[in-house]
Amino acid sequence: MIGDRFDAIVVGAGMAGNAAALSMAKRGMKVLQLERGEYSGSKNTQNAILNPEVLEGLIPDFRADAPLERRLVEQRFWMLDERSHVGLRYRFHHCNGKRPDRYLILRTRFDRWFSAKVREAGATVLCQTSVTELAQNRTGRVIGVRTDRQRDIIQADVVVIAEGVNKSLATRAGFCACPKPHEVALVVKQVHSLPRRIIEARLNLKRDEGVMIETTGTISRGMSGMGFIYVNKDCISLGIACLVSDLQRAGERPYGILERFKRHSSVLRLIEGSEPNDYSAHLIPEGGYNGKPRLFGEGWVLVGDAVQLNNVVRHEDSSLAIASGRIAAEAIFRVKSSGDPITPDCLSVYETMLNQFVAHSKKPFPALLHTRPENFRLTHAQLIAKAMENFARLEGTSDAKQDGPTSASFLSSCGWSWSVRDAFRRRLLR
Ligand SMILES: Cc1cc2nc3c(=O)[nH]c(=O)nc-3n(C[C@H](O)[C@H](O)[C@H](O)COP(=O)(O)OP(=O)(O)OC[C@H]3O[C@@H](n4cnc5c(N)ncnc54)[C@H](O)[C@@H]3O)c2cc1C
Repeated sequence: MIGDRFDAIVVGAGMAGNAAALSMAKRGMKVLQLERGEYSGSKNTQNAILNPEVLEGLIPDFRADAPLERRLVEQRFWMLDERSHVGLRYRFHHCNGKRPDRYLILRTRFDRWFSAKVREAGATVLCQTSVTELAQNRTGRVIGVRTDRQRDIIQADVVVIAEGVNKSLATRAGFCACPKPHEVALVVKQVHSLPRRIIEARLNLKRDEGVMIETTGTISRGMSGMGFIYVNKDCISLGIACLVSDLQRAGERPYGILERFKRHSSVLRLIEGSEPNDYSAHLIPEGGYNGKPRLFGEGWVLVGDAVQLNNVVRHEDSSLAIASGRIAAEAIFRVKSSGDPITPDCLSVYETMLNQFVAHSKKPFPALLHTRPENFRLTHAQLIAKAMENFARLEGTSDAKQDGPTSASFLSSCGWSWSVRDAFRRRLLR
């Protein structure tokens, strides 16, 4: 039974929640963190690319003991048709000196480690505890939370809502709307275990080198979506992400798309002989920061995926979630140490600081999956594959005869303007 009153309660022990709880506890605040999962990370079975800049600000020596799977030295882009892929490899040893700039992590392991740091900093962390409601007084001010552990309200001066993309508690309290089908992508993924030496031989990797593969093309059957393959120490995660609105419209079953992806010859050869040991589904925000909900109110702030602070192009969502948690914590600490009551006016410093962070970050935050998908993902993929097939397979005809039909069908199916605009848009997104 928790009878104490806290300076802050943090709902959720994902990237944003851990960053917020750690930052406040380090500053000597009395923090309670509540996580519904068996342990922090148990509900987050995905891989992620970690850009360490933001984490380094919180835990400077994180490289000493964080569970980092591999350092990223290569990204591959595959455009798939049904039988082949046209690929691009970008290998970048020069970026990865003594302090590598990107890592592959498995969230189950990473979040657990992150949570241990939160406990070390002095926060009380309770897992297997679902927050069932944000408790409000008669004026609507959030005064604490109700959980499935006890009937009484656990009280706090401020509640940091770090519940992830679904934002169910915030929606039920009327602070924001639940995400619309065109604002979220559904990710279904599987983890395949393989011995480390087989993974490294198949992907041409040495020691702790890591690679990720992103795929587009016919795999998403014309829907806004993409496939991905993350290579870890002793397992390969692969999956597909499609906009929920497109899945609804097309009546496609995500599991069916994943199965087709796994059976594609280019993918199959990577996971051949492996054991699938985990299957999961998760939403990711796709609305973009411009469509963000309210970020703060009477006694509450919203952080992480719930804010739609995503940048899927640069795989920075986790880092952005960490940044929003840290910035919210700093804002709350500022208000508390000024001795003023925590009013929405005071909490608005959080939004100001977050906007500054977004404005200073290197790239805009586009909603990638909203780019016109039909050409790039279906028609172009098939035609580019066909052009490469023609190029590779000489059958005694002249070059002009071979190239002619492919170029003509490419242009007639898309038109000059769409080809140029698509190419331009992709260029802008990078
Ligand atoms: C398949 C996949 C691949 C991804 N790849 C990348 C990548 O390569 N790079 C990258 O940077 N990002 C990636 N992301 C995105 C990244 O995972 C998210 O941006 C990040 O997890 C958001 O952090 P968060 O703390 O807001 O939410 P979450 O990490 O989702 O954490 C929310 C936590 O709150 C808990 N919770 C929810 N409701 C309650 C409640 N009522 N009571 C108690 N606890 C509750 C949940 O159990 C969960 O632990 C990927 C996401 C997916 C799904």
